[in-house]
Amino acid sequence: MSPDAGQLALRLAKQIEGSGPISVAEYMRAANSEYYGSGDPLGVDGDFITAPEISQMFGELVGMWLTDIWLRQNSPAYCHYVELGPGRGTLASDALRAMARFEFAPNVHFVETSEVLRATQSGHVPQAQLHDSIDSLPTDGPLLVIANEFFDALPVRQLILTHAGWRERVVVRDRGTRFAAMPGSSAMDAAVPEALRNAPVGSIFESSPDSTGIMYELAARIATQGGVMLIVDYGYAQPGLGSTLQAVKAHQPTDPFTDPGTCDLTAHVNFVELGNMARMRELHVAGPTAQGVWLSALGINQRAAMLAEASPERVEEINAARDRLTKADEMGTLFKVMAVYSTEWAAPEGFGNPVE
Ligand code: SAH
Repeated sequence: MSPDAGQLALRLAKQIEGSGPISVAEYMRAANSEYYGSGDPLGVDGDFITAPEISQMFGELVGMWLTDIWLRQNSPAYCHYVELGPGRGTLASDALRAMARFEFAPNVHFVETSEVLRATQSGHVPQAQLHDSIDSLPTDGPLLVIANEFFDALPVRQLILTHAGWRERVVVRDRGTRFAAMPGSSAMDAAVPEALRNAPVGSIFESSPDSTGIMYELAARIATQGGVMLIVDYGYAQPGLGSTLQAVKAHQPTDPFTDPGTCDLTAHVNFVELGNMARMRELHVAGPTAQGVWLSALGINQRAAMLAEASPERVEEINAARDRLTKADEMGTLFKVMAVYSTEWAAPEGFGNPVE
């Protein structure tokens, strides 16, 4: 644990002592802001690994997918590649390289809050303009937005059903750097959708106001400026109950309420809600579909075969990476892909025919 992280636990403990319990969302926001701000968590030696870090094929296929959309839109000269939470910039650099083969070179914008990761991103994609939030993104020209494992890092609010009704789930100090969650005191029944309200005591209803807020805003931009947004994450395609808050450290699950800021806190992404935000802005929605299905439709097998032919000594590594990204017992099913796009743009590839 870094000394700073111990300080975060102390700061949160003081805050709770002084002004009472904090919400799960506040706790998650503080913990992840410390976590992403203090180091690079990605890779084999880090805490977790993401699709673009597993293989160049992931970013390349995203780049080809965008190129196809752009070509079908008659190759607008002025447009923006926007990535939310780009990590090390690996996805963007692989995608932009694939796009450049078609002389597709959009402006590049990264929305990133971590200073440490910003430095790495600028090393890999020097032309990228960095933004603290989506607010400063350009307001003219189509937006091609990519969000891979971004929304899962945003804070979730949790409501829990007690004998006295629905309450916000709040965080109190247990001891040392250990915290615990418990029901708060104010009634929150109105914040739970009616269909889910009559659940067993102890049920948890989760939502991510930060995620829906960002989605609602970007969907409005895409509706007026044109463009598309691709979301890849683990999450659910049906509304439901239960806590999905989890913590990972050194590739192992750990307790989300111990040592805040030293482990990656995530929650499953609610694709239904994100899709609804886009529909409210009159965008089309494609998916969510399983990552494995989507990558296969885009030709990951063909790409793997090409790479293996060029580097026969790497064939096992290439096939293992392909399997990891696509197999049902790996990332193929748990991870989902959804696209939302302007009604004036053609339906994107990889989602089959049934597009709303
Ligand atoms: N997309 C990358 C990294 C995923 S990790 C990949 O697939 O490898 C989550 C990323 O989101 C990190 O870059 C993290 O710093 C960033 N992030 C987390 N919360 C954020 C916020 N509120 N605003 C902008 N970026 C954020």
